[in-house]
Amino acid sequence: MLCVLNKKQKLMTTLSKATQKLIKPSDAATWASCLRRVWLDKHQHAGVEIEASDFDQLLRQIGLKHETKVLSRLQQQHEVHKATSVEHTRELMQQGVPVIYQGRLLDEPAGLIGYPDFLIRHESGQYQPADAKLSHSANKKGIQIQLGLYRRILGNSLPAIVFLGDDSIAMLGDEADPLVDEFVMSMKHLLALKQQPIVHYSHSKCRVCPYFDQCQPEFEANQDLSLLYGIHGRAASSLAAVGITTITQFANSRVEAIPDVPHLKGDKRKHRAILQAKSMLSGKVFKLNEIVLPEGTWVHFDIEDNPLTPSRERHVYLWGLLAPPYTNEDFDYVWTDDETQDYRGWISFLEKIEQYRAQHSPLVLAHYSNHEKSTIKKYAERYTMKNHTTVLWLLGDGSPLFDLQKPVLNSLVLPLQGYGLKDICKHKDLVNFQWEDAESGSQWSVVQFNRFLTEENPQEKLRLKMEILGYNRDDVIATRRLEEWLRNKGTSKNSEF
Ligand code: SF4
Repeated sequence: MLCVLNKKQKLMTTLSKATQKLIKPSDAATWASCLRRVWLDKHQHAGVEIEASDFDQLLRQIGLKHETKVLSRLQQQHEVHKATSVEHTRELMQQGVPVIYQGRLLDEPAGLIGYPDFLIRHESGQYQPADAKLSHSANKKGIQIQLGLYRRILGNSLPAIVFLGDDSIAMLGDEADPLVDEFVMSMKHLLALKQQPIVHYSHSKCRVCPYFDQCQPEFEANQDLSLLYGIHGRAASSLAAVGITTITQFANSRVEAIPDVPHLKGDKRKHRAILQAKSMLSGKVFKLNEIVLPEGTWVHFDIEDNPLTPSRERHVYLWGLLAPPYTNEDFDYVWTDDETQDYRGWISFLEKIEQYRAQHSPLVLAHYSNHEKSTIKKYAERYTMKNHTTVLWLLGDGSPLFDLQKPVLNSLVLPLQGYGLKDICKHKDLVNFQWEDAESGSQWSVVQFNRFLTEENPQEKLRLKMEILGYNRDDVIATRRLEEWLRNKGTSKNSEF
């Protein structure tokens, strides 16, 4: 089979093929995401590592910082020895050193290998595995399997320790065992499998996967139903079981002929899914309902936030707005890059909203998706300001906030796999608005902002800030273009849809 990696990826460090065929705790996250991806890692790309995306590299850097912080805390209390190999780890354990850093555990007969951040000697003389994790909870599948596997290799009953991102500590014991059993069994099956497993498309997972360029042609050639917005992979499998396998077949089906399957129940959803299939095949837009847009002066609104703060509380560093006449020069914003100024930024945003309220009546504050509204709610809770006059107005009855995604989802079926702002706006036959920086996106902006924070050269820092502002400005201009497109086409009596 031809091996094609996404253009952004390149092959890096060569690893031992023998090691690659062992089951590693770090396989757990990939396994939980996609069975084919883990199969490709183990078979086609055994021996090579794929370069992580900028966002994943940023996560690794921040994870490493957290690990270093935990290490220095442990060093203040114990003697810490760094392990260099599996044999060295065994020696250090036999010596009974208090803490082993970067230990390497191997159970060759079981085919398991693990690299716990720390091995901490218990008073019983046995060792407890411990990892530093950025997450605030140890309840995640990947974490449970990873720590559970270390315990399995160590073969004792002591709970594993998780040093969480909020500086709390969680313990994981036998409760993770069923999940570990499932993971090990499934991985053994995948390692023995000669052909890649059959899977379905996932809009959120496949687009960021390094194997996308390899899988996409197959999904398209098969007209896989999961390529349709609203058809989950599980629904596609259930439909295949009753003989409906392609988009063309589905588009030609009647609602009554489609059984209720997981994630696709009820006539309304099925009707929409059939239109989605027709739209994908023909490029046509279908109108389900009249589009009703609120009257008033529209001000477009979009925020940029940083989820990777030391406190892990999302910090909105940019509240962007676009008022009439909606040119690039009308872009207005509140910028607070310093997280300690988070409250100041929030208050400045509320003050700005009051200025717009005084100038425009009625005011429509348009945004795309629920993120802006839920962020305002979170900020009101964070600063105990639910009863603040502006907050009451923004979140109460008669709120000026208007989520532009709602009329799109309620009224239109578009030839798209996803209904994000960029999906609709970038499409040449739909809104056809292009961002100045084609690479920009939500993960891109988090990476750029974190580069901005650590950059010391003032000129480069300014350049990064201007790039982020340009991206946010294009986001609000895009929602304006979408509004115009809906007004021109979706609401007119002689609608083209
Ligand atoms: S592109 Fe999608 S199906 Fe293919 S390996 Fe990646 S996540 Fe799995």
